Amino acid sequence: MNKLAGLIKQMNKDELQLLNRDLIAGNIDKILRKRLNELNNENFDEKQCPVCGGNVNEESFKIEFGKLYLRRKAYFDAVDCMQYFIETKIKKQHIDIGY
Ligand SMILES: [Zn+2]
Repeated sequence: MNKLAGLIKQMNKDELQLLNRDLIAGNIDKILRKRLNELNNENFDEKQCPVCGGNVNEESFKIEFGKLYLRRKAYFDAVDCMQYFIETKIKKQHIDIGY
């Protein structure tokens, strides 16, 4: 809360009024929930590139594949790894789930 209080102290009156409007409209709640969901679902400390085992992060290449109810995500550290994965796992095997 200290960090947020510090940010609020730095804002001018117009910015504070906009923030207050977002608060009343429930937009702040939406932003917080969205970010928490992102952080909960995307724990990059445990993720590795499925092709080479390299580290991945928020800026890595990502694909989503599979049927809607079995949607999967895969993260890659390089375009080459992503291309290899698509050609060997998705194109040739036509898989819906897993890899
Ligand atoms: Zn890789």
